[in-house]
Amino acid sequence: MKRKGILFVISSPSGGGKTTVCQEILKESSDLAYSISVTSRRPRPGEKEGRDYFFVSEEEFDKRIQRDEFAEWAQIHGHRYGTPRKFLEETLNAGGAIILDVDVQGALKIKERYESACLIFLLPPSFEVLASRLKGRKTDDETDVELRLRRARKELASRKHYHHAIVNRELSQTIEEIKAVIAAERRRV
Ligand code: ADP
Ligand code: 5GP
Repeated sequence: MKRKGILFVISSPSGGGKTTVCQEILKESSDLAYSISVTSRRPRPGEKEGRDYFFVSEEEFDKRIQRDEFAEWAQIHGHRYGTPRKFLEETLNAGGAIILDVDVQGALKIKERYESACLIFLLPPSFEVLASRLKGRKTDDETDVELRLRRARKELASRKHYHHAIVNRELSQTIEEIKAVIAAERRRV
């Protein structure tokens, strides 16, 4: 019997470690596809079109909403981000496994729309560690860091909607825990 694919959603507050964790997991799992989101924000130094995001204008983002091209989309920190529906559904229909790095609003919309989605929440070890990782990343100015920290307090409360909550202390340990969740999900009948 052919099983439909598996959908993993990884969320955390900004700076919680989603990008780092997804990159590590993808390096080790060639049978896991990453869903590249569309965003209306500008690329950060070092970010590449079609690898990190598909970068589009606000007008183009509007058009894609009207054409129902997103499985979900959300407004975050003043910019819009969306998950392309076609790639997601084609991968699932072909029986593949796919991983999404989306915020809490996006994860909840995905859970509603794709009932079998497995939602994983990455928690920082403490608020202080989160602040220090965000500052250490040096990609956002002070105002942006403050905005992300304020938002993090609300997002942390949303972890109750997820299937798994993993504290991101030591990176290698976090990766092992996520791999265990993925392996268990693949064995589910
Ligand atoms: P997100 O994608 O959730 O915003 P990032 O993956 O960019 O978060 O991580 C934020 C910062 O924290 C990065 O500089 C990253 O290298 C660092 N980081 C992530 N996980 C860990 C960890 N387990 N231990 C130490 N630093 C980490
Ligand atoms: P950043 O600008 O730091 O790359 O991402 C900001 C936030 O947008 C992160 O929490 C990230 O998970 C979220 N995000 C990225 N892509 C998507 C998406 O397609 N949909 C939703 N809802 N959130 C996304």
